[in-house]
Amino acid sequence: MTPAAQPVAAGAGRSLFDVVIIGAGMAGLYALHKLRAFGFSARVLEKGGGVGGVWFWNRYPGARCDAESIEYSYSFSKEIQEEWVWTDVMATQPEIEAYLNHVADRLDLRRDIQLHTTVTTMTFNEADASWTVETDRGERFTARYVIAATGVLSAAVEPDIAGSGAFQGVSLHTSRFPKEGFDFSGKRVGVIGTGSSGVQSIPVVAAQAAHLHVFQRSAAYTFPSPARPFAPGELDDLKARYDEIRAEQRASRFGAARLGAFAVMHTGMTPLKAASREEQLRAIEERGVGGAVAWSDTFTDKEANHAARQLYGEAIARVVKDPATAASLAPTYPLACKRPVVDLGYFQTFNRDNVTLVDLRKGGIERITPTGIQTTQGFFELDVILYATGFDAMTGALKRIDIRGRGGALLRDVWDTEGPVSYLGLQTAGFPNLFTITGPGSPSVMTVNLVIEDHVEWIATCLAYLRDHGHRAIEATPEAQAAWTEQTWSAAEGTVFLEPSCNSWYIGANVPGKKRVFLAYLGGIPTYRQQCAEIAVAGYRGFRLG
Ligand code: NAP
Repeated sequence: MTPAAQPVAAGAGRSLFDVVIIGAGMAGLYALHKLRAFGFSARVLEKGGGVGGVWFWNRYPGARCDAESIEYSYSFSKEIQEEWVWTDVMATQPEIEAYLNHVADRLDLRRDIQLHTTVTTMTFNEADASWTVETDRGERFTARYVIAATGVLSAAVEPDIAGSGAFQGVSLHTSRFPKEGFDFSGKRVGVIGTGSSGVQSIPVVAAQAAHLHVFQRSAAYTFPSPARPFAPGELDDLKARYDEIRAEQRASRFGAARLGAFAVMHTGMTPLKAASREEQLRAIEERGVGGAVAWSDTFTDKEANHAARQLYGEAIARVVKDPATAASLAPTYPLACKRPVVDLGYFQTFNRDNVTLVDLRKGGIERITPTGIQTTQGFFELDVILYATGFDAMTGALKRIDIRGRGGALLRDVWDTEGPVSYLGLQTAGFPNLFTITGPGSPSVMTVNLVIEDHVEWIATCLAYLRDHGHRAIEATPEAQAAWTEQTWSAAEGTVFLEPSCNSWYIGANVPGKKRVFLAYLGGIPTYRQQCAEIAVAGYRGFRLG
């Protein structure tokens, strides 16, 4: 393999690579493949015992993608795109994990991937513009560049609930569910959390458990998933027009042109405010909760958004038989300020005799005891607690590593004091030669897989440019970063995302002490891609090369 133009000097006992990639999920796998193709030596360090990233860890019952399989997959290889056979319109976790393993084998990636390896510290060496990367196994790697392919939703939030360590039953977390599975049969189970992970797992757990208590702090806006097995020939028809599908995907603002989580809410032509009461009721009669949001003004007009919320509550009440439970399942914050959830039979689950909703808005969790959960509204004896309490999104994984850049500055401190600043979501000033795939300030959370491909290709092309032009360092300038951060944050001003009643991971509100700003770029995929391309063509404008 051809080394970079100016090789890094080896220290004693160190492994030497052009690039260290952190993470063997969707981003890390493609980064390795692309960098190899560009002639760089690279090593992937992966904490898990297998490849797949989020799809390796999140193997809870019911785990499934909320985007279509034909869209939530690599587009860079026509061969892989053609040969892989998806069985479901919205793939399950096992199917996506199998797909990513297939990609790893197909591209012969495993020989450069080191599993069971957690990166603990990274230090930028100003003298020779390299990074020293240290792991929990006591190894040291030196690389000119580091690519953090650490994922958007990979650092689980440990809920700060008193006594959680004292529980004598089984404690499980959706984001590190046992690989061998777990049999809930005959068990009294408590699920804490009703975001995507909770909503997906609740119907499946309910079908097994002796009794399920759902501990809900905020109700979810969830919509029936379009998931279903492909009909015979259907996937082949889609594959026949794959180019067209990918082009539509890339041209769409949120990168999912078809049935994805956002698309389920983007189907209305008529304004809700102009609709008669009869028309509104007909919509929820015909389309259930989907009918509550399928209007043209629910995302742009606060009154319409509020009306849609009420209609959504009415739609729930038509499904859930117990009126008190139905009322508790109705969200009290604006529609679309959190990521919409897609589900399979979520509301119907609350009609089961063995399921009880514990509405924490009526009395929160006080503590976890050795035998269950004590709330201010009563005690619930449990055998199993399943935490579905979410992630420290976009910045969490990197803040858990001691990353020291120029002058010994800690990335964690920079992001804690200034907020999650970046240039294009690709670099943070003061941390030369460190790239963040789907980092804060990129449109990543809107559509992860497309942004991953774009970022990998942009970074690989950039590294080749640096090599060809005799540079060995690239760093975002503070000015370019400030302008990008301003552009990113101001785009969210006045939107539902920053409504005071909305505490989503999009704005870091689920992590105590995290700055309340919208973490992603909202300008849409086409605009973002165009800006990234123009900056590269202009010789990496806004970056200092040296
Ligand atoms: P989440 O959306 O952040 O939901 C976490 C849930 O836990 C919320 O209901 C939260 O309540 C609750 N919670 C947190 N701490 C709590 C506490 N101390 N006491 C009581 N409740 C507590 O996390 P997630 O469900 O893991 O989903 C995160 C994101 O991952 C999703 O939005 C999606 O982007 C992605 N995801 C996608 C899929 C899919 O493709 N279908 C599946 C799973 C996840 P509050 O809302 O009140 O904070």
